[in-house]
Amino acid sequence: MTDPKTLCVYCSASNEVSPAYLEAARELGGLAARTGLRLVFGAGSVGLMGALADGALAEGGQVIGVIPEHLEQRELGHRGVSEYIVVGSMHDRKRVMFDHADAFAILPGGLGTLDEAFEVITWRQLGLHDKPIFLVNLSGFWDPLLVLIEHLLRERFLHQDPARLFQTVDDTPALVEAVLAAPRPGPGVDSAML
Ligand code: AMP
Repeated sequence: MTDPKTLCVYCSASNEVSPAYLEAARELGGLAARTGLRLVFGAGSVGLMGALADGALAEGGQVIGVIPEHLEQRELGHRGVSEYIVVGSMHDRKRVMFDHADAFAILPGGLGTLDEAFEVITWRQLGLHDKPIFLVNLSGFWDPLLVLIEHLLRERFLHQDPARLFQTVDDTPALVEAVLAAPRPGPGVDSAML
């Protein structure tokens, strides 16, 4: 039997956001569990991160959490996950999440989410991997970012069609459908090069 596909999810660690965003993250967790998609995330039990994990675990899904030791208190490391990996640094967290992932989803989030998202997008721009990346534009949350990317393209600071770097989906069912349909990524470069 082939390994389940693993979706890496980047999203907010904030509980202060509209409950609709938290609900969408919880729904994605449930949907992933029901469709046999394993998740890897930043292991926080707060914000969309916590909602995502709880949604998946409630339906028997597999969830891998990766957290730097120094953030365990602040982000309330989620000890209920299937595999809880404590790493030494932010860079290690990103590398371990990357290594586990067959695809990436960018849910609503703040600066941390943007940092993680742009890292995998720019690695793809450099040809370091071909893992699919999905921007989940719930209720148009990422429209301002899409406007910025259009601006980069128009002003010729971006030299390839952004659609070759990432795809935009409108909701979590469309995300899961696209992830399941995507071909498995090639081997890419040794992640020690990232
Ligand atoms: P935020 O989108 O700001 O709520 O952050 C979402 C997650 O990204 C949190 O778990 C942060 O710890 C994480 N994060 C923030 N900055 C970085 C970074 N430079 N590298 C990796 N993860 C980060």
